[in-house]
Amino acid sequence: MIDISCPICKSIESKQIRAGISSQLIKVDDFKITDSKYGQTGPLYRCKSCGFLFVVFKDDCAGYYTQMEDKEYEQGRVYRAVQQKILLKHLLKKFPETTTLLDVGAGTGMLVEEAQKTGLNPIGIELSSWCVDVAKTQGLPVIEGTIPHQDLAGRYFDAVTLIDVIEHVPDPIELLVSCAKHLQSGNPLVLVTPDVNSFTSRLLGKRWWHYRIAHMGYYSKQTISLALEKAGFTVVSIRRPAWYFQVQYLYERLKQYVPLPDLGKTSNVISRKIFPLIIPLNLRDSLEIIACKK
Ligand SMILES: [Zn+2]
Repeated sequence: MIDISCPICKSIESKQIRAGISSQLIKVDDFKITDSKYGQTGPLYRCKSCGFLFVVFKDDCAGYYTQMEDKEYEQGRVYRAVQQKILLKHLLKKFPETTTLLDVGAGTGMLVEEAQKTGLNPIGIELSSWCVDVAKTQGLPVIEGTIPHQDLAGRYFDAVTLIDVIEHVPDPIELLVSCAKHLQSGNPLVLVTPDVNSFTSRLLGKRWWHYRIAHMGYYSKQTISLALEKAGFTVVSIRRPAWYFQVQYLYERLKQYVPLPDLGKTSNVISRKIFPLIIPLNLRDSLEIIACKK
């Protein structure tokens, strides 16, 4: 019998709202950061008590992250770094005393790299050994695994960042409590996650790009705030950050929704001058939350 109790409020009253894909049919590539099978999910449930929308797979999928490789993600390093820089700017504006930082789910170390450039002393932790190798090749301090981790036991940081990570885990409270153990009272956690209650999500319905096989939880302002409270945090601020993308990446992703010609191959002007441009895009469907440990 699988456990379908709510991962946030623990209510056993939940309703299955989508059959979804069985865990036997999914593959490691479904867990890539740049996965583009938009709209596909695992078996989806809604908690009748707090409204949280979550996936319950019969099998544990964490093993897929250790094997995950994503070259397309790494190719976007230049424009994805712009996003990290802005997140750090917001953090430092509110908490200018920050010097040490732990980035959980660090990927190839993009935030760690930007934090170093800002003069901080960061360390990242990441499950994918491929991502860790890419980070190490660039001399970045990213260790393999997840928290709790023996190399980090008993260590405190001025800030912890959890950027587009919480939606990937089946037990968000466990992860948030593990983050809290690395913070002193009053110190901040920066968390970014898609907003399932956003206008874009409601407009696109089942085809919303954040409905993905790798996403285990779909948060709203209310449910992420509840999860943070339960894990011992107080929400300090909530923003809707813009993301930065290369025009070519956006164009390729837009093909999922509307038929478009293969411009990159037919037009030199577009592929040389327009596609490399980095532009901000704010669809207001992502939440950037700063929460302090109580
Ligand atoms: Zn609930």
